[in-house]
Amino acid sequence: MRIGIDIGGMSVKIGLVEGQSIAAKSVIKIDRGRQTAYDLIEHVSNTVTALLYENGVKPGACEGIGIACPGTVDDQRGIVVYSNNLGWENVAILETMRARMAVTTPMALANDADAAALGEVLYGAAKGKGSAVLLTLGTGVGSGVIMNRKIFSGFLRGGCEVGHMAIARNGRLCTCGRRGCLEMYASATVLMEHARALAADNPQSLLCVLSGGKLSDIDGKVIFEARRRNDASAELVVDEYLENLSIGIANIVNIFRPEIVILGGGVSAQKEYLTDELQRRVAGKCFGGTHGQTPPIVTAELGNDAGIIGAAYLI
Ligand SMILES: [Zn+2]
Repeated sequence: MRIGIDIGGMSVKIGLVEGQSIAAKSVIKIDRGRQTAYDLIEHVSNTVTALLYENGVKPGACEGIGIACPGTVDDQRGIVVYSNNLGWENVAILETMRARMAVTTPMALANDADAAALGEVLYGAAKGKGSAVLLTLGTGVGSGVIMNRKIFSGFLRGGCEVGHMAIARNGRLCTCGRRGCLEMYASATVLMEHARALAADNPQSLLCVLSGGKLSDIDGKVIFEARRRNDASAELVVDEYLENLSIGIANIVNIFRPEIVILGGGVSAQKEYLTDELQRRVAGKCFGGTHGQTPPIVTAELGNDAGIIGAAYLI
């Protein structure tokens, strides 16, 4: 039995993990207005203790406690260096957990996308593979790189941030301060913004029809459905999106040469409709790609549980 903790922007999910399944789960809502980081860690510690107790797991029988957290983490020192999502800076999460729980159970910390990538390699879409790169296409573009079945976080702490690889010179301004980052071309946010802007100029578009004329209701589902029905605006939006994403994936493949590329986040709900076309577009851009040197591109399988399962196996 292990504990996997996945800290998100809105809630903390805590799972009691056995093998590849989550035997029991607790969810804590984050109250950013009133809770300090240390209040939240105390709440998490108490919840872990309660979850173990309620399920009859003696503290000594828990093999490890792993924590996945958004932002830059120092896994060696167990510190969340900076998390924009949580508003945390230099939070000594592991030391605090150990003190609050008063147990000797091994504990470990990782970035959330790194943990999700590990989960997918151990029990999800990349099961049995030695190396993989996960891209999460959501609010931003998160990434996790696995080499030899371990998280590759590089020398400087914080892990790989392939979402902040520039794919355009003098391109769109990113939240990180640079221009042209993949995140500004391949996030779900950017996809929806582009579609909403086109829909506003083309009220006859299926993007408007399928969303009932409400621009804010144009989401990934509407965009891809409109494209399936050959709507011109949706075709424009999705073509540009897939082309930009394929440049990013080809760059990743040329650098890491992973056995498999996994796509997670909201956009990955499109499954083969997304990956079949990406596979073709990426093959034309990878070094040696037309000679079969392109890894399979697949969608994530563990969904929201990837972070919990990956975190549980950080030990
Ligand atoms: Zn950036």
